[in-house]
Amino acid sequence: MSAPRLEINVAKITANAKSLVDLLNTRGISVTGVTKAALGCPIIASALISAGVNGLGDSRIENIERMRASLGDGPHMTLIRAPMLSQVERVVRHADTSFNTELAVIQALSDTATRLGRVHGIVLMVELGDLREGVMPGDLLDMVAAILPLPNITLQGIGTNLACLNGASPDANNMTALSNHARKIEQGFGVKLDVISGGNSANIDWALTQTDHGRINNLRLGEAILFGRETLGRMPIEGLHLNAFTLIAEVIEAKRKPSLAWGTIAQNAFGTTISLSDRGRVSQAILAIGRQDCDPDGLTLPVGTQLLGSSSDHLVMDTGTNPAIIGSEMSFGINYATLLRAMSSPFVEKLMV
Ligand SMILES: *Cc1c(COP(=O)(O)O)cnc(C)c1O
Repeated sequence: MSAPRLEINVAKITANAKSLVDLLNTRGISVTGVTKAALGCPIIASALISAGVNGLGDSRIENIERMRASLGDGPHMTLIRAPMLSQVERVVRHADTSFNTELAVIQALSDTATRLGRVHGIVLMVELGDLREGVMPGDLLDMVAAILPLPNITLQGIGTNLACLNGASPDANNMTALSNHARKIEQGFGVKLDVISGGNSANIDWALTQTDHGRINNLRLGEAILFGRETLGRMPIEGLHLNAFTLIAEVIEAKRKPSLAWGTIAQNAFGTTISLSDRGRVSQAILAIGRQDCDPDGLTLPVGTQLLGSSSDHLVMDTGTNPAIIGSEMSFGINYATLLRAMSSPFVEKLMV
């Protein structure tokens, strides 16, 4: 088998998705399965569909096109990053819905949808404090007034995204605010909003502990499905698998070396100055994987080993009392940041197990 490789346990991902869908559906909340960390991998996407998600969400149109080509017209697909003006035609062709915050883009979506004879759905994102995407609440009603008359555009609902940029967490206050915005739009314009999307994997605690979810009827879940954890404190969600992914790399050097570098010590390849403590000689192993393929800080190391450092293509480990064997493999648990890199690296083979 080739190394490095990412082993993906599809059955565990399916089981996680099913558990979350069941937990949330009983609370009146549908799940959009977010595939961006898996680069829109069609096998994972179909696993999510089979687990009962009500649609797929991805931040990149390329990933949506990949899933569309493989899964056909059936699944509802949402572009969950605001479309680039330069990509509106691809968005109208391949996504059913997009998340939006700019009138110029929504107008371009309307023009393009009209030209192509299609109807495109809009979920308007509302800024509720995390300071990433969203219309400021005070501008919401004017924005809706401008969107509603646009041809070939359907305002499907509103949404918000929290805990991504600044860690502003979903709570009873901001979720109630979102519900109230939905009511105000419906009453003010005599429309019905189908989707009130409360957030991402950071909303799990809110969804499972609050009894009143107001108008919120959708969450978009990526990390919780893939890693079995909520994302405010990265606590495991009961009953979910935490280890659907394993990253495997091969040993290319194994030697006893001093624990202290010598010579004139300056910055390393990544601009940091390392200070080491002298632990005598250690069993050092080099694995053929680097920062191009993973986030070294996001690896769960084998018991009894220690990460000494990493560069673009080398991961240097202290293997403790067990000297590594050339050509042998080492397995790591990974986090979301490493999944992103490993999925994006052409050097990492992806193996479904
Ligand atoms: C990435 C993303 C999600 C999913 O986030 P997770 O933390 O992986 O659940 C949801 N909504 C938006 C807008 C996103 O960009």
